[in-house]
Parts: sequence; C-alpha cells; structure tokens
Amino acid sequence: MGLTFLLVSFTCIYAHGQQHPKVKSLLQLSDGQYFADRDSAYLDPYYGLKKLIYGNKRFAENKSIKPRQTDADLKNNELGQKPFATIIGCADSRVPNEIIFDQGVGDLFITRTAGQVMAEASYGTIEYATEFLNTRLIVVLGHESCGAVQAAMKLPPNPPGHIVTLINAIKPASIYAKTNADTDAKALDLAIRKNVLEQVALLRNLEPVLSRQFASGDVLIVGAIYNLHTGSVEFIEETVTSLPKFSEKEMAQK
Ligand SMILES: [Zn+2]
Repeated sequence: MGLTFLLVSFTCIYAHGQQHPKVKSLLQLSDGQYFADRDSAYLDPYYGLKKLIYGNKRFAENKSIKPRQTDADLKNNELGQKPFATIIGCADSRVPNEIIFDQGVGDLFITRTAGQVMAEASYGTIEYATEFLNTRLIVVLGHESCGAVQAAMKLPPNPPGHIVTLINAIKPASIYAKTNADTDAKALDLAIRKNVLEQVALLRNLEPVLSRQFASGDVLIVGAIYNLHTGSVEFIEETVTSLPKFSEKEMAQK
C-alpha cells in the first residue's frame, strides 16, 4: 500500500513537469532551492539552465519574485543588453517566456512563432545572440495543447496563405506521432515532443555557426515542454544527457 502510494505520487509529480531524476542529478539541482547565481549564468550555460529551472519552479509554485523590472533596472539597460539565454518559443499567448521562467528585463533573448517553427530570419536572430551577445544557452520551448501542432496533425491539404509554411515544418513530427501513438491524445503529446526534438537537432547541426559552437561546448542547445495546467517546464531528458559535458563519450573518459 505504501509503495503503491509512493509510486502514484511519483508518477503524478513527474507527469506534472518536474525534471527527470537523471536531469536533476546531472545538473545537481536541489529540491529546496529556488535561485542560481546570476553572474555565473552569463559565464556558464549550465548555471543558466539551472537559473531557468529554478525560476520556473518559483512561477509554478506561486513564488515569483519578478526580478529586474524596477526603474533602476530599466535605466541600467540603457547601456546595453546581456541576455543569458535564447528561447525559441511558440507564439501562443499562454506561454509568456519571462513570466513562466520568472526572469527580468534584459535576461532572455526570444524568438516566437507558431509551433516555434524556424526559418532563415530565425537562424540569423539566434546566431546574432551567440556571436554578438555571447549568449551561451538556447532552449527550444514547446508546450502542451499547441494549436500549431494540432493543426499539423490534421494534415490539411490546402492551408491558407503562409500557414502552409508552419504545417509543412511540423508535418514530419505529426506523421511520426500518428504512426507511433495508440490514442489521439497521446499522438498530440508525442508530436509536440518530437517537434521539439527535431528542432533541437536542426539547431545543433545548423552550419556554419551553431554546429561549431555546440560541438565545442560553447553553446548548449536543449529542448523543453511547458505544461499549461501546472505552469511547470520539463527539460527533455535526452537533450540534457546528450550535451557535450554529459555525453556517453565524455562520461566514459572520466
Ligand atoms: Zn503552440
């Protein structure tokens, strides 16, 4: 009985977007902690990752501190920007990036399109952040109940106007999910996850800038999914375990 309760509790907690145990262990996340050092986040992208995770924990637990939004903070920003992370997010109005990660003005460099679909201008925007702003962390952020992915799942034959660009970009993930999930609800979740994974892979291999920066470990590129119901962001385990510092090869050398 006790064990059953524990298992049920664990399943519920995990389903609500908490970090996977392996992710917690690799990033050395502490349960009772809500803050990561801000200056370190600019120098070390792994601190940036922790900073986003702790910020989201504050938001999801109703403990947001709304940092760096005072008049003095705005005045400081006149001197320039130094964001510690780039977020590639969906345009969905329910996923406001600074709010869900509890970050302030000047912290996040963001590009948002429906289904976080990227094209040439997005690539240039992301490369600008890593090359000229020295931002060392990139997060592809999908979310549950994504309307763009839902639309792509219907495989519409003639989407109007430029919407066809979005549908075509998400179509491979939709087809994968339709053939690998046993229910429609599971298929949507799988397509959302697969779409993020493909976008992460695309950026990691994007030549000539990001592929080099990712391979050298200068820039981290990870995927995450926001849960609209709980407010929690789950960082996808396989995108964290495959980071250069944690990859099988690196681990074997230690
Ligand atoms: Zn969406």
